[in-house]
Amino acid sequence: RAPHVVVVGGGFGGATAAKYLRLFSEGKVRVTLIEPNANFISCPMSNLVIGGQRDMGFITHSYANLQQHHGVQVVRDRVNRIDPARHTVQLAGGSEIGYDRLIVSPGIDFMWDALPGMASAEAKARVLHAWKAGEQTQALRRQLEAMPDGGVYALAIPAVPYRCPPGPFERACLVANYFQQSKPRSKVIIFDANPEIQSKRGLFTRVFQQNFPNHIEYRPGHTLLDVDASTNTLKFEVQEDFRATVANVLPPMRAADLAVNTGLATVNRRWCEVNFLSYESIAVPHVHVLGDAIQTSAGMPKSGHMANQHGKVCAAAVMSLLLGQPVPSMPIVANTCYSFINDTDAMHVASVHRWDAQQRTMLVVPGSGGVSPAPSALEGVYAIGWAKNIWADMLG
Ligand code: FAD
Repeated sequence: RAPHVVVVGGGFGGATAAKYLRLFSEGKVRVTLIEPNANFISCPMSNLVIGGQRDMGFITHSYANLQQHHGVQVVRDRVNRIDPARHTVQLAGGSEIGYDRLIVSPGIDFMWDALPGMASAEAKARVLHAWKAGEQTQALRRQLEAMPDGGVYALAIPAVPYRCPPGPFERACLVANYFQQSKPRSKVIIFDANPEIQSKRGLFTRVFQQNFPNHIEYRPGHTLLDVDASTNTLKFEVQEDFRATVANVLPPMRAADLAVNTGLATVNRRWCEVNFLSYESIAVPHVHVLGDAIQTSAGMPKSGHMANQHGKVCAAAVMSLLLGQPVPSMPIVANTCYSFINDTDAMHVASVHRWDAQQRTMLVVPGSGGVSPAPSALEGVYAIGWAKNIWADMLG
């Protein structure tokens, strides 16, 4: 009987792991991918949809090739429960599937308890995060289109760690770019719980000053205490309440519910710890965890590019474990995150991370990586190329 791997979550980590398990094992491992969404909708490039520079079609991609070209069985359902003792997953649709190894890449969920005013469905429908691409991406775009000229868009950022450290600042630039063109009296105000910008700090600071002097204001050290969604009012520790025309709140984040409920989230019931040689959980044997759900370590950011790399290292390790081959012992992974600042120009940050056998963790390779000298249209071309390539790598 061919060994069977179940992969939960068809995002950057899960789709990559599923495809590469089939490729690396030359079909010797059976793979089932379980994902509730009909299509993959990419968070990377979704800020361009919110800014009005691209449409949803650009970021929406089919799972069909995984099934048709790579022999992955794609099941459209949600996993409600994992039973690690019996090696099974229970689906919302009622069925149960057994596994030899389980790979979980469920992404993040939000710590709504931190914002009591956001508890109701009405509050969540009015004050959006748009930090999972899909329905909310379009809804936030509609709110910005409906906003009168002269209105204020407030973006609240939680304390680190959160998904995609440069993402909020890219979003601020793209919304400001839209305001410059269509609503010149409107303004973006960023309220950041952190003391400073967490990624490409020098570049974003310069872009805010040079490109958007009248359209972006950055206020660090603003921890959000609560939200009154009925009036788009943000409440802080450090200043008067702030009433926005459009409020966009990124709540504090943790590993997705399934990871927490399965006991995989060992760090403050928030993030999952893994062995970086195989991405096997340190808490639950035969279960591997990828992507944003794992504890950020050695400067490895919560990015799609990183999750894609986790997926490949994990696929090689899981295949080796199942087929009785030695697990590769020297993983090296890389990350690149592009940020657009308008419809054409982008800038990047890159890093390389290598397994250190002594410290038994991943470390940044000295001298690797860096940031762009400045945003440019050429990097905008590279950024679109990056997106098309990674989508093809995981789903093509
Ligand atoms: P995801 O890609 O979120 O995938 C998780 C999947 O699991 C989802 O499809 C979900 O439906 C599924 N799932 C969850 N629970 C269950 C369950 N119980 N059963 C079955 N399925 C389940 N990264 C970059 O590298 N470059 C960028 O330019 C970039 N830009 C970004 C911009 C924005 C606005 C945002 C929000 C993020 C950006 N990111 C970027 C970050 C990137 O999107 C994430 O790091 C990446 O999606 C993480 O991959 P993942 O596999 O951990 O989770």
